[in-house]
Amino acid sequence: MTAAADTATPPVLPEALGSAARAFVAGPHRLLIGSERLQAADGRMFSTLDPATGREIARVPQAGEQDVERAVQAARAAFAEGPWATMAAAGRERLISALADAVEEHADELAQIESLDNGKPVALAQFVDVAGTAAHLRYFAGWPTKIEGGVLPVGAPNMLCYTRREPVGVCAQIVPWNFPLLMAAWKIAPALAAGCTIVLKPAEQTPLSALRLGELALEVGFPPGVLNVLTGDGETGAALVDHRGIDKIAFTGSTEVGREIGAKAGRALKRVTLELGGKSPNIILPDADIEAAVKGSYQAIYFNSGQACNAGSRLFVPAERFDEVMSGLVSQAANARLGPGLDPGTQLGPVVSAEQHERVMGYIEAGRAEGAEVVAGGEAALTDSGGYFIAPTLFSTTSDELRISREEIFGPVLVASPYETLEEVAGRANESEYGLAAGVWTRDLSSAHRLAAMLRAGMVYINTWGVVDPSAPFGGFKASGVGREHGRDGLEAYLETKTVWAAL
Ligand code: NAP
Ligand code: MG
Repeated sequence: MTAAADTATPPVLPEALGSAARAFVAGPHRLLIGSERLQAADGRMFSTLDPATGREIARVPQAGEQDVERAVQAARAAFAEGPWATMAAAGRERLISALADAVEEHADELAQIESLDNGKPVALAQFVDVAGTAAHLRYFAGWPTKIEGGVLPVGAPNMLCYTRREPVGVCAQIVPWNFPLLMAAWKIAPALAAGCTIVLKPAEQTPLSALRLGELALEVGFPPGVLNVLTGDGETGAALVDHRGIDKIAFTGSTEVGREIGAKAGRALKRVTLELGGKSPNIILPDADIEAAVKGSYQAIYFNSGQACNAGSRLFVPAERFDEVMSGLVSQAANARLGPGLDPGTQLGPVVSAEQHERVMGYIEAGRAEGAEVVAGGEAALTDSGGYFIAPTLFSTTSDELRISREEIFGPVLVASPYETLEEVAGRANESEYGLAAGVWTRDLSSAHRLAAMLRAGMVYINTWGVVDPSAPFGGFKASGVGREHGRDGLEAYLETKTVWAAL
């Protein structure tokens, strides 16, 4: 079988792609089920595109119900029997560490695959996505030997009562396209540490890095069936969610799909964690270091072309400093270098897909129509490229009622608004169905911590934005999700507690 076996004409891949990434992207690509690399049972495939050109880069199998069935069976078998089921905790630690090593050894390759498939700057892919993936695996590699139950001081005499912490079982893990490899790592690392087995489904827009991660897991010696990877679309995801052999669902993505998955999980009484969107308020106080606040607020929204669940997409600025802050943001936006992710000079890549481009441009039009002022950007960029570029866009408005002020845009669009008092801004910041992140820029410790307590959000950043660490819980209040990832909380989401009573 030739590398191009799954395409009519082999795609022309960008020059900047290194040999390892090139060889992988050229394929052929297969579903990873147990120890096998398989075509979809019904032979269907779909294309994944380069967001910088709109051209096909590879074709991958479209997993259907039969494939979901096989993958869940493989995961159930690995959970119930075989080397994974009987492996000592130290064995899981060794394997997760080995996967972290493999990710680091293949760092350039993985970063290039991610940059090509998602559109993000390759340096960002390297320092955020790939480095974060390795860090996450390393952190959770430390957990298996520390998972312990306890002996309980129960009242009944002559009774031994203790708890065991046991893995939840087979997990469906459904991830989005904004940080494909990293979101997969956030999900698989705690599940593996707990002793679960997994069927992972990457987003249809960005299927490649998850397939590579699955291959690396097999290469470093994870027993077959522990990590299965199914490429496909929302139907594949829904079939997984619905499967009776799934014990727990972990999802990151849109609020809309999250609600549906939550409802299904509720009916089936499956364990579920949801990491959904946000409309995170970022508040500059009058005494802030304005230069630092402008730089940080710029990154808070335009990082990853605005495609981050915790993007700081609502900016609140003291009325007396509004013009100063706006002009700082405008000059940064004017100097932003847009381009393909694989071009080392690129600061801002395209958004992920034509669909996302249309959606974000729709919001920009809606903002204009509803009377917000476009202070920077407001249009598609590099339109001759065939790619999905959008100029970094800044709106100014005094209203909190516009669609652009309320709904998650998930693109390089910031909505800035002036305010007068601390109490006013805290109330306005909290006036959202979401509660993922919030930020405060100030030199005043007292205001910083008062606001940190007042803001209804899962993460509060003071004089910074978006910092992430595998040890620090990540997740949302309100419609931003259910449960937490990272740290002990993240691990707990993959464990059941069993209480054992023994009459002595
Ligand atoms: P999405 O549909 O929620 O996609 C997330 C994941 O869920 C993908 O793997 C997707 O598969 C899968 N999926 C879709 N429908 C499903 C279903 N009914 N059952 C199970 N799995 C399902 O998100 P999107 O449509 O790509 O993006 C839409 C909006 O979601 C964005 O504009 C943004 O606002 C938000 N979003 C949020 C995050 C976040 O980090 N919280 C990430 C991405 C997007 P396919 O991709 O193959 O359809
Ligand atoms: Mg979708």
